Amino acid sequence: MDVSYPREAEAYREKVQAFLAEHLPAGWKGVGALPLEEAERFTAEWRRTLADNGYLAVSWPKEYGGGGLTPLETVVLAEEFTRAGVPQGIPNDGFSIQLVGNTIIRWGTESQKHHFLPRILSGEDIWCQGYSEPNAGSDLANLGCRAVRDGDEWVINGQKIWTTNGHLANWIFALTRTDPTATKHRGISFLLCPMDQPGIEVRPIRMLSGESEFNEVFFTDARCPADNVLGGVDNGWAVAMTLLGYERGEAAAVRPLLFRAELDRLLDMARERAKTDDPLIRQQLAWCYSKVEIMRYLGLKVLTQFLQGQHPGPESSIFKLYWSEYHRAVTELAMEIMGMDGLVPTGRPPSSAIGTDDVGAPNSTASWATTFLHARAGTIYAGTSQIQRNILGEQVLGLPREPKADGGPWNELQRA
Ligand SMILES: Cc1cc2nc3c(=O)[nH]c(=O)nc-3n(C[C@H](O)[C@H](O)[C@H](O)COP(=O)(O)OP(=O)(O)OC[C@H]3O[C@@H](n4cnc5c(N)ncnc54)[C@H](O)[C@@H]3O)c2cc1C
Repeated sequence: MDVSYPREAEAYREKVQAFLAEHLPAGWKGVGALPLEEAERFTAEWRRTLADNGYLAVSWPKEYGGGGLTPLETVVLAEEFTRAGVPQGIPNDGFSIQLVGNTIIRWGTESQKHHFLPRILSGEDIWCQGYSEPNAGSDLANLGCRAVRDGDEWVINGQKIWTTNGHLANWIFALTRTDPTATKHRGISFLLCPMDQPGIEVRPIRMLSGESEFNEVFFTDARCPADNVLGGVDNGWAVAMTLLGYERGEAAAVRPLLFRAELDRLLDMARERAKTDDPLIRQQLAWCYSKVEIMRYLGLKVLTQFLQGQHPGPESSIFKLYWSEYHRAVTELAMEIMGMDGLVPTGRPPSSAIGTDDVGAPNSTASWATTFLHARAGTIYAGTSQIQRNILGEQVLGLPREPKADGGPWNELQRA
């Protein structure tokens, strides 16, 4: 692990800081300081500013309209944007630019690249992720959404679930079963499917917090062009795994910054509510502080591997397990500090169900109580805590593997 950044990183940092100073409004405190509707408007306008200045899709090669940044520059940019509390795009850009965009660059044909990539940058195509199904979450390869070839098209029938921001998207990348007679990891194809058609219905799911950020997506004789297979027919598992590998390296640098800023807000709230003399609260706050510091070093370890060009290995499960379990604990502490006030939340809630509240957000009871509910999901998405522990046990510690009884053709497997 290397805990210091090379000199060229600092030079690039100054460049990013100068860009932010030039383009952000005077007195900028972070997008969290804006009311929700204004924050949404700012984010859409900011995306255009990023596009005009080559700061959108920074990791894509320049030939596809990206920024062509090195991994180190990508990390520095993400750090500075996080500190300043400005987004790197609209919420679906995580799916559009980071996930499917990078995967199209890796697996797409030239004509797929030339068709889809510019439309992502222009904002014409907005993507969501169609992986999970009611019977395929942790065991993703069990997916059963069926695609059958009909002339120049695929006809798709089945259901996806937990589709984040599916209601904001007009395209879905969907894992589909194209050969049910093959074993379960084979016979899967990765389809690029337009959502604006009668065969696709998006139904919102109401979350614990009362909001609806994710959806069920039903395919009933939905159609997509035969050429919209990424990476070849029946080769979707390899493509799906490539996409999951684009979990950002820079997240390892950014998350500890966000959790530290969040903890500072909690300390302020504990002081305001005269809780810092309570020995039990003090002890828990100190525990949180140590956890965030350890997370910073864990992040640097993951980051060092990323900057050395290594793919995050099974040890990266430590980081996922660590931050998501920590976030549940720190938000439970916030509820304890707020006491009864936490039950009648007031003020601006977070703009997204993922991670911490926005930088600059007011220290309101709605901010903390909603983040407390959202933090439950952190130990589920991107692989549950149990699955992370399985990975660590089997692939890092070398413990015996879980017995598997699913080697035969997918359509002959017994399932619930
Ligand atoms: C906020 C949020 C956003 C999401 N967004 C998307 C999205 O945009 N697109 C998408 O496709 N999916 C999305 N997901 C779905 C997510 O990937 C799945 O929820 C996750 O993979 C777990 O699958 P599951 O919910 O089916 O739970 P299951 O796999 O049914 O697991 C149920 C429980 O059993 C445990 N378990 C399962 N298998 C094992 C095992 N082998 N050993 C030990 N314990 C086990 C799990 O840990 C869990 O506690 C999202 C989820 C959340 C919470």
